[in-house]
Amino acid sequence: MRLLVIEDDPLIARSLEHALQPLGNTVDMFCTYAEAQAALAHDRFDLILLDLGLPDGEGLDLLASLRDRGDTTPVLILTARDGVDDRVSGLDLGADDYLAKPFSLAELEARVRALLRRSQQRSDNRLRFSTLSFDPTSGTATLDDTPLALPRRELLLLEGLLLHAGSIAPRETLERRLFGFDDVGSNALEVYVSRLRKRLQNSGLKIRTFRGLGYRLEEDREPGRAEGPEDETA
Ligand code: CA
Repeated sequence: MRLLVIEDDPLIARSLEHALQPLGNTVDMFCTYAEAQAALAHDRFDLILLDLGLPDGEGLDLLASLRDRGDTTPVLILTARDGVDDRVSGLDLGADDYLAKPFSLAELEARVRALLRRSQQRSDNRLRFSTLSFDPTSGTATLDDTPLALPRRELLLLEGLLLHAGSIAPRETLERRLFGFDDVGSNALEVYVSRLRKRLQNSGLKIRTFRGLGYRLEEDREPGRAEGPEDETA
């Protein structure tokens, strides 16, 4: 999952990052209204954790402008323990849930999982396609019920493909998922796609390239045929 955390308190921000990243998540962190607004203007996330009191603006305004644009990304607001008015305003403005500070990390993780499930209309935590399954909670993948041990970025790639299973996972979305806002070379994503392809060899699944657009996880109807970025056009 790709999460956006907007929080200006460095201690809280760090604990959020530590809690969320091991779950197989890419966590982008911003501590100002302006930075968060810029990130949201040209990017999509699976979930936003939003602190309401930011040094250069109100989290509630950010939420309002998000919903005004018709953006339905789930938002979990972080409020002060006594901030009843903030919680009510936040929920009225379209926040999906709130957590009062200080919060327990276990509760945070459970609420994040629940919001992601709900937004993806899943009844449990797993993402599935054919014989492939990924559990974002534990960060484990299985193929034909056999554990698939993958390094972190291959797991993120697999998750990104599974989130778009049946359709094309946009190249840019996958790059952001794997590398965040880091500058990476133009073929960095291909390196991970080709590694994951090798692992899926003879599995009945393949990753199809749509040049200039992205990649799609598909059932492989012609196993044994060479896979590579050169074999597709779109
Ligand atoms: Ca704050």
